Amino acid sequence: MPVGRLEGKVAVITGGASGIGKACALRFAEEGAEIVISDLGSERMESAAAEIRGSTNGQVKWVEANVCFEEQIENLMRSVMDDFGHIDCVVAAAGVSGANYVSGENAEGLSGNLVDQSLEDWNQVLQINLTGVMLTNKHAARHMIAKGTTGSIVNIASSAARVALAGAVDYCVSKAGVSMLTHAFAMEMLENNIRVNAIGPGFIETPMTQGLQDDAEGQELMRSMTPMGRLGSPLEMANTALYLACDESSYTTGATLYPNGGMYIS
Ligand code: NAD
Repeated sequence: MPVGRLEGKVAVITGGASGIGKACALRFAEEGAEIVISDLGSERMESAAAEIRGSTNGQVKWVEANVCFEEQIENLMRSVMDDFGHIDCVVAAAGVSGANYVSGENAEGLSGNLVDQSLEDWNQVLQINLTGVMLTNKHAARHMIAKGTTGSIVNIASSAARVALAGAVDYCVSKAGVSMLTHAFAMEMLENNIRVNAIGPGFIETPMTQGLQDDAEGQELMRSMTPMGRLGSPLEMANTALYLACDESSYTTGATLYPNGGMYIS
């Protein structure tokens, strides 16, 4: 009888109510993990959890936490420990494309040019995309260390960590930060047998790219930057995250994989 690649593992997934995070939650559940989704909005989380329970029969819980607030992330990790006794895998997928982006409600993507941007908007993007990932890593790792867990942390960066996009300086900087956070934190976690890796997706079919998908110029921009000529699917990102989360990648840490349709070929 084949055993799932994450059988017996507990996975915490921020941004798990939508897009890439939700696809990771579903894919990890299919591989036997018990899942805790964290995001904003109880109805959105319950709906994602119900969808996953419906197709996998696995245990899926949710805990609301805004990744910007340290006490909410502490509470998230503590409640996972109370319920399951261990945290094995983390996917830090919560993120925004710009200060005014609200997932599923507002497809307006980027913040606009830096010269016109308020400090408040800049801080908002950095707070969610970079500090939120740091807090998620820090508080998950604390429990992994205390428990002696051989954990795996997967951060969702972006191909924009290495491609300069006009109108998205805040986003590019935040994602480059996630990539370096991943590399540096991986060094610190070596002695604890906790692996820390990242994924830098290209353009993926989620609510975050809906504005570009709905616009002819946006479609052309995405196609022209992507040698494969199509958007990636959330499932393709989840499969990459699964590889990094499970033991098949046991010799990989401090790496960022870029599933981006060949964006970096030349
Ligand atoms: P999405 O909008 O579908 O999902 C993002 C989720 O993050 C949403 O459910 C949202 O509610 C949640 N979130 C936002 N702010 C939060 C906060 N403060 N606290 C907790 N949760 C919060 O978009 P997605 O495309 O699935 O994005 C997931 C990750 O992938 C993001 O980090 C994004 O930057 C990254 N990414 C996406 C693409 C793409 O093309 N879609 C490309 C590269 C990287």
